[in-house]
Amino acid sequence: MSDRLTPRDDLRDLEGYHSPQLDVPVRLNTNESPYSPPPEFIDAWLDALRAAPLNRYPDRAARALRTALADHVGQPVERLFCANGSNEVLQTILLTFGGAGRTATVFEPTYALHSHIALVSGTRVVVGERAVDFTVDPSAALAFLREHRPALVFLCSPNNPTGTVEPTETVEAVVEATDGLLVVDEAYGEFAERSTIDLVADDRPLVVARTYSKVWSMAALRLGFCVAPPWVVEELEKVVLPYHLAVPTQLAGVLALRYGSEMDQRVALLVRERERLRAELGAVDGVTVFPSGANFVLLRVHGDGHALWQRLVDRGVLVRDFSGWPRLADCLRVTVGTPEENDTFLAALREAVEEVRVA
Ligand code: PMP
Repeated sequence: MSDRLTPRDDLRDLEGYHSPQLDVPVRLNTNESPYSPPPEFIDAWLDALRAAPLNRYPDRAARALRTALADHVGQPVERLFCANGSNEVLQTILLTFGGAGRTATVFEPTYALHSHIALVSGTRVVVGERAVDFTVDPSAALAFLREHRPALVFLCSPNNPTGTVEPTETVEAVVEATDGLLVVDEAYGEFAERSTIDLVADDRPLVVARTYSKVWSMAALRLGFCVAPPWVVEELEKVVLPYHLAVPTQLAGVLALRYGSEMDQRVALLVRERERLRAELGAVDGVTVFPSGANFVLLRVHGDGHALWQRLVDRGVLVRDFSGWPRLADCLRVTVGTPEENDTFLAALREAVEEVRVA
């Protein structure tokens, strides 16, 4: 075989995205909604699909979807870009504004796909640090950005996996300080008390990315979007593959928005459950729980985090193990599930902590 049949040199050390899926009764490891979409939505979607001309390509500009979304977020349609999950939004941004010879900044610990997709797109990643409370310290960030002058800066608010919601002043300070593009990943934005969407303006280099995968219970369908100045949207449209957004996805995106009040109720329930989880975890000896504006909670055990993860699995509960990650020693992330799932998790955790905790 030819030795040219290898990936690009700069991809040699790349590891694939890996989040173990195990067949256990309670799966609280991937931050999905614990509920399916409303049955009326599924009926309306299937009806629309039956009536769709499947022999024709989809609307390339996704006009109906972008118009409905623009209305939903209170923004002009020219500021909307849609793609297959917010991961494809992020990838398109990196392919357009990153690439060879350019750099992107992330503040760790944060969503691993930001730097992963950056590397795949040939963008060099320069890593900034978060403060001990996992917020981005504005003055440290500004000094860092002045030094590295990245083409792209990623913030994630609420931040995955820590749950941290960035103060608006930090976002404003970073967008003022950079001469690149600031991307605020708000995949969990609906669960937080504040959003950056209203800061998007035609003359400000700010993009806010969101997804249908969490609140809208549509992780299976792969739909995400961003709100950005029209000149950014125009460039993204040039780079993304034509007809990338299939008809079933576009239809689902429009129809889902009709069920906004159901979704608001679900968000309210999940936020209540999140706060219940935080309160109950806070009362467990040997556990530190971090504030969260998302549909998950990060906790640190005063003992062996990986052993705790395994003992939860043994009790039929799967959470995400971050214990071996830099800056997240002995940390686990639990997705907020149904009240029953959360009870099962809490009971398993109380038992398992006793087995791994160091006094
Ligand atoms: N951003 C963040 C912070 C996430 O946690 C996720 C999902 N894990 C995504 C983006 C991607 O979501 P999707 O591609 O499903 O829209």
